[in-house]
Amino acid sequence: MRRFAYERAADTAGAIATVSGSSPAAFLAGGTNLVDLMKLGVEAPELLVDITRLPLDRIETTDGGVRIGAGVRNSDLVADLVIRRQLPVLARAVLAGASGQLRNVATVGGNLLQRTRCLYFQDVSKPCNKRMPGSGCPAMEGDHRNLAILGGSPSCIATHASDMAVALVALDAIVHLEDSGGPRAVPIGELYRLPGDEPHRDTTLPRGSLITAVEIPPLGFSRRSTYRKVRDRASYAFAVASVAAALDVHEGVVRDVRMALGAVAPVPWRAHRAEDALRGQPATEASFRRAAEAELADARPRRDNGFKVPLMSNVITRSLSDLAGLGP
Ligand SMILES: Cc1cc2nc3c(=O)[nH]c(=O)nc-3n(C[C@H](O)[C@H](O)[C@H](O)COP(=O)(O)OP(=O)(O)OC[C@H]3O[C@@H](n4cnc5c(N)ncnc54)[C@H](O)[C@@H]3O)c2cc1C
Ligand code: SF4
Repeated sequence: MRRFAYERAADTAGAIATVSGSSPAAFLAGGTNLVDLMKLGVEAPELLVDITRLPLDRIETTDGGVRIGAGVRNSDLVADLVIRRQLPVLARAVLAGASGQLRNVATVGGNLLQRTRCLYFQDVSKPCNKRMPGSGCPAMEGDHRNLAILGGSPSCIATHASDMAVALVALDAIVHLEDSGGPRAVPIGELYRLPGDEPHRDTTLPRGSLITAVEIPPLGFSRRSTYRKVRDRASYAFAVASVAAALDVHEGVVRDVRMALGAVAPVPWRAHRAEDALRGQPATEASFRRAAEAELADARPRRDNGFKVPLMSNVITRSLSDLAGLGP
């Protein structure tokens, strides 16, 4: 690990000014992703600005919604009764991520901005367009079992790692930010970007942007929601495929639905096609299967990750069937 300086931010404006400045600096929250990447030589900030003492650690109810500070620890989020009762999809997604020890220090902001787990990205002895623009993508012909089947480009097929972000995309969360231009808010769907020919840019955020909070607008049927994660081990493993879903069924017909997919695309993937295919349809397993197939019609698997297409279809169908109260 290279030498770096450390300072604790006294206030938000000072933290933003320092990280937006000319020398390479980064916000340090729980450090569970950033410090790992520094040890591997993938990230090399000269200055870490510790933001854990900033007043960003509150969970508040708003007009029917919830506002979660960016510094809230993942464990505290899962333990919150409002989150557990009103937003089971979010509680389950966070609980499905990492381990108890990691969740005790990992924060909401850091979770949203964690970087991909693509093996080549983490191995500085290998080329990688995301880590070093223009150097190539060995994953295309190499180890891509866990990588994207949707939304990838010839430059990069990395998947997004966060479970929490998948739930927040399904819930249409708003991300509150502050940068040198002042505070602003962006829909979470506009936070992440597909790789195209610039895979090194994971998000639309300018340098020095501080996430201050995530706001979840009211959703009448959010209590009927779930997160289902398939992984290689029963716990403490990243997803191979996951679904965040909320379903509103009235007299056997799907009145509304929200759905996002994880571990199949470079971004948490909002399943708009499946949602459109479902509204107004009978809440049956056949409808859920058709919706999954509509969403996956554009899937472009490579040699070793074709299994994700039927897997994802099954995970979507099972999750929606459970929410609709259909038996196994
Ligand atoms: C062994 C292991 C297993 C894991 N398994 C899972 C899993 O199954 N599912 C899952 O979702 N995650 C998993 N994780 C990832 C873990 O959840 C993330 O490392 C964690 O959420 C990052 O949060 P942090 O607060 O530690 O972020 P940090 O490491 O401190 O920061 C991460 C990035 O976000 C930036 N940042 C942090 N906060 C802010 C902010 N408020 N505004 C702007 N930028 C900010 C930092 O500068 C840095 O670039 C795992 C991690 C490990 C090590
Ligand atoms: S898939 Fe993306 S992150 Fe992985 S090696 Fe290729 S360019 Fe790098």
